[in-house]
Amino acid sequence: MSDPGRGAPRPAPPASRRTGALAAGLCVVLALLGAAAFAVLRPGAAPSGAPGEDAVGALLERRAAAVARGDRAAFLDTVTPALRAPEGRVFDNLRRMPLDAWRERFAGFGDVAPSGEASVRVTVRHRLRGFDRAETGRERTLRLTWHDGGWRVSGSGAGDDPEIWDGGPLRVVTGAASLVIGDAPEVAEISRRLDAAEPVVTSVTGRGWARTSVALAPARPAVARALAGSSSPDLTRIAALATVAPGVDGGRGADRVVVSPGTFTRLTATGRDVVLTHELTHVALDAARDTRTPMWLIEGLADHVGYKRANLGVREAAAELRADVRAGRVPSALPDAAAFSASSDRLTQAYQESWLACRMIARDHGEKILLHLYRTAGRTSESAALRSTLGLSLSRFTAQWRTELRRELG
Ligand SMILES: [Zn+2]
Repeated sequence: MSDPGRGAPRPAPPASRRTGALAAGLCVVLALLGAAAFAVLRPGAAPSGAPGEDAVGALLERRAAAVARGDRAAFLDTVTPALRAPEGRVFDNLRRMPLDAWRERFAGFGDVAPSGEASVRVTVRHRLRGFDRAETGRERTLRLTWHDGGWRVSGSGAGDDPEIWDGGPLRVVTGAASLVIGDAPEVAEISRRLDAAEPVVTSVTGRGWARTSVALAPARPAVARALAGSSSPDLTRIAALATVAPGVDGGRGADRVVVSPGTFTRLTATGRDVVLTHELTHVALDAARDTRTPMWLIEGLADHVGYKRANLGVREAAAELRADVRAGRVPSALPDAAAFSASSDRLTQAYQESWLACRMIARDHGEKILLHLYRTAGRTSESAALRSTLGLSLSRFTAQWRTELRRELG
């Protein structure tokens, strides 16, 4: 659910899938260091084989407790010497975040590890105080090495997705209606823009949502891709997107706006407001969990709200679609889901077509009816929703929209 130029993918439950070249490189080095340390420092009581589940659980408990009470030394005592610098940065980032809970839960033993190491799958769970209604969690792999009389964390999984706390020093800004976390320079600016967007969004969607948002603004595109989830498209075309951080134990997870570094900063001030207001509309309407509402309504309504404060003419904001219309290529149907896929060559036009459809409905019928259509189309068919809310068949509505495109852009 993002925005073109912007462009938005239909978000799917994020999953671990990325192969981290950096992490892989790190693991190779750590494995070598671990082996060396094992040979030199191995105490009298060496372990026999892999650690038991109890030993792993105790180690993970010590890590969570150290984070909770801010005991950096205790946290670093759970890792091998080679890992103290990177894990120290992780600890510092975790302590900057308003965490109600951060813990790693044992999820199973991983693949066979190199000699002297164990591989453990854990679910890293956390909840952001004052913002998240439920815990979120992602699976990661920890490598454990017997070192200095105990099992210690000696590395992470090569294919694990990075988290926001794996980046540089985090800035955390809590605004009136937003929490923004990241190592990108725009953290405070994003918070300010999200705060200003909230009343605009609420004026259209009504007050039946949390009216707060959490945005993640990583400095590295690789982190943004991981946070965006498995369906993450080419983020060089997307400035921000709304997604759901996966829940645990069947929970609903938590809404996140992920800001794409580089792409976002190329936008003008107006463009940044449009994009963030657009994404906040998705959050307010729970679009990232919506599998029924037609995409043209999801994206068109978000753009309608996004453009409300922007002093931009239609011909300027829909320049690509205008070129098509003026060349005689007036679309024959509202854009379908495929038109919004990252590989669609008419992605930009799909957004513009949707925006103009929703803009027309808001102008001719009012925003309340537009919202009513949106909600109805999430429960019934598109044509039934159009008929019951606008009194129009799908073909009649499509004809009106095509006339609108010619009039506004021709
Ligand atoms: Zn969107």
